[in-house]
Parts: sequence; structure tokens; C-alpha cells
Amino acid sequence: MNSFHYQDGQLFCEQLPVAEIARQEGTPFYLYSHETLVRHYQAFDEAFGDFDHQICYSVKACSNLSVISLFASLGGGCDVVSGGELFRALRAGVEGGKIVFSGVGKTVAEINAALDAGILMFNVESSQELDLINELAEKRSMVAPVSVRINPDVDPQTHPYISTGLSANKFGIPISEAVSLYQRAANLPNIKVVGVDCHIGSQLTKVSPFRDALDRVKSLIEELRRLKIDIHYLDIGGGLGITYDAERPPLPAEYAQAVMGVVNDLGCGLIMEPGRALVGNAGILVSRVLYTKVGVTKNFVIVDAGMNDLVRPSLYNAYQKIVPVREFTGKEIDQKTVDVVGPICESGDFLAQERLLPPLISGDLLAVMSSGAYGFTMSSNYNSRLRVPEIMVIGKQYQVIRRRETFDDLVAGEIMVDWRPKVERS
Ligand SMILES: *Cc1c(COP(=O)(O)O)cnc(C)c1O
Repeated sequence: MNSFHYQDGQLFCEQLPVAEIARQEGTPFYLYSHETLVRHYQAFDEAFGDFDHQICYSVKACSNLSVISLFASLGGGCDVVSGGELFRALRAGVEGGKIVFSGVGKTVAEINAALDAGILMFNVESSQELDLINELAEKRSMVAPVSVRINPDVDPQTHPYISTGLSANKFGIPISEAVSLYQRAANLPNIKVVGVDCHIGSQLTKVSPFRDALDRVKSLIEELRRLKIDIHYLDIGGGLGITYDAERPPLPAEYAQAVMGVVNDLGCGLIMEPGRALVGNAGILVSRVLYTKVGVTKNFVIVDAGMNDLVRPSLYNAYQKIVPVREFTGKEIDQKTVDVVGPICESGDFLAQERLLPPLISGDLLAVMSSGAYGFTMSSNYNSRLRVPEIMVIGKQYQVIRRRETFDDLVAGEIMVDWRPKVERS
């Protein structure tokens, strides 16, 4: 469910015509629905009912401060994977005690910042990282809370770039080595083992891989307890998929039932790190048609947003639905197969290929649906294009939550060397 719908012949976000925002703010821009964000968060939260749980929103899906702080206002914490994301979470008002820190390459500076913030736990991904956290915690006379990220070697049946729980992936500790690492962790003076973590991939559309992974993790927790290593938290990661096209991912309630079915008698608090499921279908990318071009073998619709603004189609060959902002009805819907492409100097710069769309003309607005997750956060300045604004609709109003960049922003960090020859004075 989301809050983008046609009304009076045009696309609305909540109670506001998308075209109205385009008129005032120009294009392209990302548009998020406040109502959808709240509804998705609550659906996820309510699915786990009274079961002891904490949602730690995966910041990398959509990192805007207003999005993070909205979830924080609903009780959410954060899953961060860099010092920058930790900074954002803290800036957005998330309590340190609700932040988990994941990622295979945490640096000294990042670990120190997380220790200072008093985070809930580090999700440790290697034996060397564990030693470094111990050493840095000792220097601060602290005890660092950790869980170990387990790689359960299950196939999440998703795109290879976003599967993380296979033995061939760089993530986590092989489950076969987990017990010995936990035993070592339990004996390190400045480490406190608090949990077990497992995140197997993204855009999962079945519950079975989650269940398989959790079965393995559950056996591990039981074994650790026999060894007197107590586990308080089970972090089940993120990864629940959304509908981009015709996928039928489990509803949060089905996912929650499956999870609780496996872990119910373990007595662990659950931590979950959803990203895409909360924000994916709460956002769109709005772009304007610049030109239409009839090619020899293909027809192109050239729009003002490109792969630098939304890279998923180019990077993962991902399908994202595209709809016109003015509604086409009746005879007008004489659909043609087109490629929707951006202005970037790369043939990989497309938002859609071989897509049936009504006859668009220059000036028409298009909405790329399901762009809330891994949309703006993966955008870049490639081709020296300005990063676009992020806007949130709240009922009948909208709020710019990140302004459009300016040319000055583009070069703000650069230093221009003075190459003119120095004049020798005698
Ligand atoms: C990316 C990521 C998530 C979120 O994944 P989604 O598929 O967006 O839910 C959660 N945990 C970790 C460790 C991640 O890297």
C-alpha cells in the first residue's frame, strides 16, 4: 500500500498533485509520502506485537535526516554501516542505545565514534575486527557490546549483488567457525557478547530463506548457551522484499509469524534491520520528458533524470514501474514500446528498457515508482549533475527535506591549484 494514486486525471501523493510540486520546485526530484512511511513502520512494528523487539531502520536505504527522525519519533533505532551513517543517526536524535553497527570494514575512527556514542552493539564481521574493538574499548576503559554476524550459507534467491548470506559472500563469519570465535570473544576483557546477528540479503520475496537461516542461528544460540555464553539479542537483519513489478513478497505479518515461529522459545529480544520494506514504496522519482526520439531500432524517451539520480535499473537491471503524471485514458492509451533514458553519456544510462508507455511528449512528467529505497542514497554527481532535492508530502503540504544542489555545491570541496608560472624577482 502506498499513497500515490490518480485523482482528477493526475497523479497525487497523498492530497497533493505531483505536478504542483514540479511546478514549484522544478524537476527532477525525489518525493516521499509521510503517510506511507508511517504506515509501513507501524505495519512492521505491529506485526511483532508484544514480542520483545526493536526496529533498527537500515539507514543506507534512505538516509535523509527527516526520514530517520520520523522513524525515531515512532520508536525506531538505526542500523548503520559507516561513520557517516552513525553521525546521521545521532544528528537525527536516535539514542545511542538503539543503534547497531554493521559492515565488514569498520575503521578505527568509526569504532571509536560508536564506542563514544554508547551503541547497542557492534555486529562483528571478522576475527580481526573483534580484536580491534577489544583494543580500542580497552583504551577507553570500556566494555564493547558485540554480536557476531553469522553467514549461514543459505541462498536468499535474490540478485547476486544483493545476496549476502552465501559462503561465497564477503559478509559475516561462517557458521562453522562461529562457536570458536564466540568462545574467544567471551574471554576478551573489553568485549561483552550480547547477541547473534544474521542478514542474508535484500529484496527477498519468500520466507523460506529467512526460516532456514534462523533455524541454523537458533541451533548456534542453543550451543552457545550450553557453553555458558549468554545471548540476549537475536538480530535478524533486514531484507524483506517489496513489489516493484509482479513480485508477491511476504507481508510483514507473514514474515513476523515465520520469524516468531522459529525463535519463540529462545527468550531473546529481537532486533530487525528493515530498509527497503519501510521506504521503497514510499518514494518516487519525478522527472520531465525533454525529447522523444525515433531511432532505427528503438524509440527513446529522453528525460531529465539519469543513472546518476537512480542507478538501480543500470546497476542491477532492476525493474521499476514508470507512470505518466497526467493520466492517459481511453483512445489516448495507444501504448508504444520505448526506452526511457537519461542525459548521461553512457549507453547504460536508462531508467527502463522496452517499456510500454502511452504517447509522451516533451514536457510531460513521469514518475518512477518504488524509488524510496536505494534511490537518492545511491545518487552521484556523475557528469557534474546536481543532486536533486528530496521532498516529503505530509497531507496537503510538502516540505523540501534536502534542497537541490547548486553549482557552487558541486565544486565546494575542490581546490584549484594556481598553475601560472611564478614570476622570478631579482
Ligand atoms: C542493507 C542492509 C540492511 C537492509 O536491507 P533491506 O533489504 O533494505 O531491508 C539490513 N542490514 C544490513 C547489515 C544491511 O547491510
